[in-house]
Amino acid sequence: MQKSRKDFYFFNTLTRKKERFVPIEEGKVGMYTCGPTVYDYGHIGNFRAFLFDDLLRRWLEYNGYKVTQVMNITNVDDKTIKAAKKLGAPLKDITRKYIDAFFEHLRMLNVEKAEHYPRATDHIPEMIALIRVLMDKGYGYRSEDGSIYFNVSKFRDYGELSKIRIGELKAGARVKVDEYAKEEASDFVLWKAWDKDDGDVYWDTEIGRGRPGWHIECSAMSMKYLGQTFDIHCGGVDNMFPHHENEIAQSEAATGKKFVNYWMHNEHLLVEGRKMSKRLGNYYTVQDLISKECNPRAIRYVLIATHYRQQVNFTFDGLNAAKNAVDRLKNFLDRLDTVQGTDAGTELERLMETVKEKFENAMGDDLNISVALAAIFDFVREVNNLIDRNIVTAEEGKTVTALMMSFDKVLGVIGETHAALKLPEEAQQLIRMREEARKKKEWKRADEIRQQLKEMGIIVEDTPQGLRLKQKSIN
Ligand SMILES: [Zn+2]
Repeated sequence: MQKSRKDFYFFNTLTRKKERFVPIEEGKVGMYTCGPTVYDYGHIGNFRAFLFDDLLRRWLEYNGYKVTQVMNITNVDDKTIKAAKKLGAPLKDITRKYIDAFFEHLRMLNVEKAEHYPRATDHIPEMIALIRVLMDKGYGYRSEDGSIYFNVSKFRDYGELSKIRIGELKAGARVKVDEYAKEEASDFVLWKAWDKDDGDVYWDTEIGRGRPGWHIECSAMSMKYLGQTFDIHCGGVDNMFPHHENEIAQSEAATGKKFVNYWMHNEHLLVEGRKMSKRLGNYYTVQDLISKECNPRAIRYVLIATHYRQQVNFTFDGLNAAKNAVDRLKNFLDRLDTVQGTDAGTELERLMETVKEKFENAMGDDLNISVALAAIFDFVREVNNLIDRNIVTAEEGKTVTALMMSFDKVLGVIGETHAALKLPEEAQQLIRMREEARKKKEWKRADEIRQQLKEMGIIVEDTPQGLRLKQKSIN
């Protein structure tokens, strides 16, 4: 018998409704995320989107789904070419630098790896094949300069995602830039014929010399790795129009099939209550925060702790509070490692059942993270009370730890740090020797061992509840 899965719900931008999640193939999920455009370091607003994707992915995995996630890397478009030109460097050198930084920041923020990170420049043939189909079917046309455009008036459902009405179209209006005004639909570019601004960035192909438009990159790469119809497409709300709308138009016009079943969009990030901008001096990249020695787990926490469909207001006070929240969870786990009390029994079991149910119900309701976190912190407080009363056994401590770690499979804020606290044999032996020394009241010896452990990065504290260990954070 297949283990039955609990139902859960996502808000689908396409229908503007919460819908029960049903994948195309039982037990599997295909998901696509518009990845970074690598012309600069990603700012924290970009990373909010990538952390939302990560939370979503982890939640699907928590529920036993095998996830195939694809995140593209846009390494050729208007922005990257402009950046390379400004610096007088080859496009590849610029993009390589920011691709490396991007992966380093994902690692620091404990983001699980996607299965595929396709680069746009490695998929030019797939894009050309798609453009050719669109031309054959009458959706694509060539302009005077040799560029190829998508005719939006030919695609019946244009505007369905963003709810932009095609009636507002200016007939024949065309845009050659990758990003354009949100108010009106226009024919958008699939293939840009080479002009001198592109310098040495072009491909000589059967549809002419030039380069792809940004939108076609995502259609070609998502369908290559996930099929013509796949489960989930996510991204920031700012990409809904024109980018995602155009992805739908290109893909569905070419295949005649529905492109994506669930569209999920995260809201913007504000900094100190205002829109982030370099001009206002409130623009931060992850790199900036790391340079200020902000704790990466706290950055992660602050970026996931607000529901993804609400604007998150990033502040340094908030970051501090996030650091405290993460520390509370870590300290709780440390404490559980050393409990030696009597049996709490059903009282603890009841608390564990309640928190699990609350966590799963909240996350199952369109990833309601704030309610899920509140349930966890209530649980931590209540179990701490039991530990204060010295009625949690070592065995019970382990069960609670396992439950916390299962939540952290979704949250990703403590896991590895705590797992790293599985001490090397040498350290364990030193701790035992130190305990022996203390029993014999050999205080000097005990202090020497404490110092030895400290040199290994392990901090020993004696508390009324017993021994507590902290590992110096490596991040
Ligand atoms: Zn995209």
